[in-house]
Amino acid sequence: MTDFAATKALFHLPEGMIYLDGNSLGPLPKATAARVAQTVNDEWGEMVITGWNRAGWMAQPSALGDRIGRLIGAEPGHVVLGDTLSIKVYQALAAAIDLAGDRKVIVTDSGNFPSDIYMAEGLIKSLGRGHELRVVAPEDVANHINDDLAVLMLTQVDYRTGRLHDMPTLTQAAHAAGAVTVWDLAHSAGALAVDVAGSNADFAVGCTYKYLNGGPGAPAFIYVAPRHVDRCQPALSGWLGHEKPFAFDLDYRPGAGIERMRVGTPPVLQMAALDAAMDIWDTVDMAALRRASIALAEQFITGVEAACPMLTLASPRDAAQRGSQVSFRFADGYAAMQACIARGLVGDFRAPDIMRFGFTPLFIDAGDVGRAIAVIADVMQNRLWDDPVYQQRAAVT
Ligand SMILES: *Cc1c(COP(=O)(O)O)cnc(C)c1O
Repeated sequence: MTDFAATKALFHLPEGMIYLDGNSLGPLPKATAARVAQTVNDEWGEMVITGWNRAGWMAQPSALGDRIGRLIGAEPGHVVLGDTLSIKVYQALAAAIDLAGDRKVIVTDSGNFPSDIYMAEGLIKSLGRGHELRVVAPEDVANHINDDLAVLMLTQVDYRTGRLHDMPTLTQAAHAAGAVTVWDLAHSAGALAVDVAGSNADFAVGCTYKYLNGGPGAPAFIYVAPRHVDRCQPALSGWLGHEKPFAFDLDYRPGAGIERMRVGTPPVLQMAALDAAMDIWDTVDMAALRRASIALAEQFITGVEAACPMLTLASPRDAAQRGSQVSFRFADGYAAMQACIARGLVGDFRAPDIMRFGFTPLFIDAGDVGRAIAVIADVMQNRLWDDPVYQQRAAVT
């Protein structure tokens, strides 16, 4: 069991704010500032370059990878950190395409996050071997798994609606058709229990600044199944993925296991921040987290629907089909979200009309959800959104 009142006390939350946006950028753990200061002062400041060995900086990408690995059901030694998620998508897809042999079709769905789709388009173009990206409706994915399929590349939880793909079933179908899978866990890692090993996933990637609370710019992670890792050829063959980086050989040879998925110098200060966040995650029982997240989301849906008939639920009603976020459609959703934010309730808006709220039991409880419902009811019932100040769009929504 996890004591979520205790974990809540470990976060700094701005005074008066109800933060239902931990699915987009997790809040600051109270221990982070001191941990980063320690890395800056005691390690960078005092050890300078010897910090790579003495402070263990070079080993951090795989040490932190293992701690994330527990949350996603990975075998130890098969997750490594680095770069941003877009880069990890590219790496995983490139390796998957290699494993898929002569097949040319990559299937993804229209609910995928655009960066994943853009990276796939760029990779296909630079390979120049006639691969085809098919972007199909999320509910149609299973119908496109056939003997042409090279790679099934999906994001498990839809960033807009929270719709959850059935990872074990789709992976099994893809394997039966002779295809390879790439799963993006951006909205799954830290949101619900994932079992990449039990699902037989081939590749998985995700980021650490959303549910994992690693801070803005925190590095991404990549998982490669043990059966593939020593066979896959890194497309991004940087020196830190080399078998012997410090031999400075002029020819590239992939490193052992997951180490080959490293590219260049790891972000040491960001990893210090993530390390503090993982101290909290190390104590969390993912089954308890899922139960708590479902209870919060159900409370929210019931309360908002009762108070706001003008909002339409965009997320699956069945909790088993949903990640850890709840979205409502409203034509003036941008303005309505701005009006909520002005009243201390922070969610976000995703074009064209989605008001999105994330449920993160580590620091959100039933009292917060009750207050959030009251703010939304006030904004919607009294048309508080219908004010020109809320129509001005900022660069980041
Ligand atoms: C958040 C997110 C990204 C962001 O990629 P970065 O390279 O970290 O900016 C990519 N893909 C998905 C599915 C996401 O949810």
